[in-house]
Amino acid sequence: MPIYEYRCKDCGRKVTLSYRTYAEYDEATPTCTYCGSANLVRLISRVAIVRSEEARLSALEDMAAGADLDDADPRTLGRLMREMSRELGEDLGDEFDEVVSRLEAGESPESIEKSMPDLAEPSEQGDVE
Ligand SMILES: [Zn+2]
Repeated sequence: MPIYEYRCKDCGRKVTLSYRTYAEYDEATPTCTYCGSANLVRLISRVAIVRSEEARLSALEDMAAGADLDDADPRTLGRLMREMSRELGEDLGDEFDEVVSRLEAGESPESIEKSMPDLAEPSEQGDVE
């Protein structure tokens, strides 16, 4: 389910709108849920700017939270990650593919994160001997 955030230029509030499909998003005119204004500015979602390797699992968690899937099984999370990848329209790399594949095989995110420490550590820090 696509979820987008907007800033209302009339009342200044942040508006979160969700759509059932991408087609519905394409056709919809977003309006402020507080004041009804159509004068909204699309905010770049955290999902869209979270592209770095170490943040991919965080993005997954954000998506899962946004989709209200607290007790989602790994297969559902894997599917969400594929959708996220498709929305970004870019190749997120072999590690991302591996994570998605393992989720879809039913492995827990915690287990995957543990076995792929690169995903949890900022790459800029370099190796610590
Ligand atoms: Zn408003």
